[in-house]
Amino acid sequence: MRNPVTDTTTGYAALDPCVHCGFCLPACPTYLATGDENDSPRGRIVLMRALERGDIEPWDRSLRDHLDRCLGCRGCEPSCPSGVGYGAGLEEARTRLYQVNGVSWATRLGLSIFNHRLAWRVLFGAARLFRTTRFPDLLAGRGRLGFPMGMLSATASRNGTRQRSRHVAKRMSPTSRGTVALFTGCVMDTLFRHVNQATKRTLEVNGFEVVETVGQSCCGAPLLHAGDRTRACTLLDQAVRVFNGAEAIVVNSAGCGATLKEAGSLLGTPAASEFAHRTRDVLELLAEAGPVVGAAVPIEIAYDPPCHLQHAQGIHRQVLDVLDTIPELRVRTLPGAEKCCGSAGVFNLQHPELAQEILGPKLAAVASASPALSAVVTGNPGCLMQIGAGLKAVGLPIEVLHPVQLLDLSYREAGFYD
Ligand code: SF4
Ligand code: SF4
Repeated sequence: MRNPVTDTTTGYAALDPCVHCGFCLPACPTYLATGDENDSPRGRIVLMRALERGDIEPWDRSLRDHLDRCLGCRGCEPSCPSGVGYGAGLEEARTRLYQVNGVSWATRLGLSIFNHRLAWRVLFGAARLFRTTRFPDLLAGRGRLGFPMGMLSATASRNGTRQRSRHVAKRMSPTSRGTVALFTGCVMDTLFRHVNQATKRTLEVNGFEVVETVGQSCCGAPLLHAGDRTRACTLLDQAVRVFNGAEAIVVNSAGCGATLKEAGSLLGTPAASEFAHRTRDVLELLAEAGPVVGAAVPIEIAYDPPCHLQHAQGIHRQVLDVLDTIPELRVRTLPGAEKCCGSAGVFNLQHPELAQEILGPKLAAVASASPALSAVVTGNPGCLMQIGAGLKAVGLPIEVLHPVQLLDLSYREAGFYD
């Protein structure tokens, strides 16, 4: 089995170990949805190798459709006994397809937003303003309008974890554990700013000094997933430069974290490798530190691991360990939790029907666990929006939360904040 932390083989070479056994097929959400071998990891590996050899041209419509329909979730990697690096091969193939075919004007427009700080700040800022009108809550539901409205509605802070105070009770904090810089991101910095604020507070309670880092941009993940490696690398390079000197870079978005940790292999410089080495998911860091225990949060929640945390970064047990430190919190892992929710960057906007079909079994598992469940907890903005919109579409009154929001709630109840 491949170790996502230590195995850094890149490009098509990462596909070399494939022996076409098919063990990965039941782990693939798109194969389970369509039943087409070409929509499975094994089928796509055959297509990618044909593309590499030149047996299939990069403009072949069928090839592009099957590779487009891949979520990039890497759920196939842990189920592969041969250690195939599917994600690395896919990235190479998508880069080639992007170079030859480009993308549709709508996708190009959407991606260009992430490339310009002013553009995403204005767009997501406007969305946040629109969210305050409550129209997204009222219009949330099924269909081409209802589902996106549900996604926007799911970005709101609803459990009162918005800060009441900026002050941390120093008398209850452990000795200093050093200085960290928070990667604020684009969607996290705008639509999920309350999660960034909760992250900062929980880190401070745990003895970390969180320093501001100016000049941050998007990590480039949406561009990288679409195959635009050049522009993704420009953004990554900018991140390496602005965080130069930070002891550790802390991320609370699984998708951003996975991309930032790839900086070394993508940019190929010592500075980028060192930057990737210093990058930590917030739950990874807190699990290592041994989090401070707060007050009881006597509710039952389901943890749904983001693919880019569990499969791409190999972080799973750490999140459960942190949640286990919250007194009286009951944590469940529902059947199928390890599978992608269908969000996958902009996949749910490009393939809305397939994305919702992939989400279906997850919603059914949540429905079977309700009404005991108070929240579904996941550490990635796309998953929070996709699952949140799905819950609204099927009428389940269950919150979606980031894990640090629960920790933040526990600390606030314990009086860590004034
Ligand atoms: S990717 Fe792994 S599990 Fe899937 S067919 Fe190839 S060797 Fe078998
Ligand atoms: S990355 Fe996800 S969708 Fe793509 S082949 Fe692997 S399991 Fe299937």
